[in-house]
Amino acid sequence: MFWGEKRYHSLDYHLKKIYGSKVQKISLDAGMTCPTRDGTKGTRGCIFCSAMGSGDFSAGQCGSITEQIDKAILDMSPNKKCGGMYIAYFQSFTNTYAPVDYLREIFFEAISHDKIAGISIATRPDCISKETTELLCELQQIKPVWVELGLQTIHEDTARFIRRGYTLDVFEQTVSQLSDKSIDIIVHVILGLPHETNDEIIETIEYIAHSPVSGIKLQLLHVLKNTDLADYYGTFHIFSEDEYTDLVIECLEHLPEDMVIHRLTGDGPSNLLIAPLWSLKKRSVLNTINRKLKEKNTWQGRLYKRTI
Ligand code: SF4
Repeated sequence: MFWGEKRYHSLDYHLKKIYGSKVQKISLDAGMTCPTRDGTKGTRGCIFCSAMGSGDFSAGQCGSITEQIDKAILDMSPNKKCGGMYIAYFQSFTNTYAPVDYLREIFFEAISHDKIAGISIATRPDCISKETTELLCELQQIKPVWVELGLQTIHEDTARFIRRGYTLDVFEQTVSQLSDKSIDIIVHVILGLPHETNDEIIETIEYIAHSPVSGIKLQLLHVLKNTDLADYYGTFHIFSEDEYTDLVIECLEHLPEDMVIHRLTGDGPSNLLIAPLWSLKKRSVLNTINRKLKEKNTWQGRLYKRTI
């Protein structure tokens, strides 16, 4: 099974099929915070998260949403602009953690921009109310809406250790609330969380493979400076490039063929990254994954077993 030249259902392939050309993401900062940072559930955030709230490429941008979009398009290199259409990506912190009137204002502003093909909203499952879900339904009547949920793991002991701040049943309720309204869900998983075995990681992947979600981001755990995770550095295993790329391939084999792969590694900011440093060569990591998929003659979905 092939998706263009790849042996997995890449986001590029998916977007080209829908829009007929390349579509770039524009990272936006809507000035949010998180319940694990503002004192509601904690004050120090998730253990691995930088001060920029997982949005090191967008946080701190100023100006209205329209101004941020226009500036990002202006600053983009000509080869990235090729399709002329963009996804507005609300990336930093928890992008539904605000009164619904404010969310209405910013999301409508983004979706109404003539260069925006759709919006993607990174958030937490414990921060999506019924009212917010109704708003997302309204928005998706206009253009596609994706909701990105940071699950990271299904294992509760790891979730407590990383201070995720919600349990798996909260994730399940939100996924069912969103999927009942046919809203596209993308789930973030981190590979390499402290003390998780490969078998436990595959259990998380299997769980997502059988959930009503349309896309997944596989992210390599980055140890960043000035995070609490940095204090534990040296007490848990850090994947080598070879171990990581082998594991990614195993994950792909367990995911259904129609699930869109939004990410296979990560973007650790080079000025903050402590480990693993090999991940800075993102192109080379992706090339290695593609090469190994061919050598092994395998592909996404090869080991996926439909349960219904
Ligand atoms: S919810 Fe997301 S942005 Fe907030 S602290 Fe956790 S990882 Fe960072």
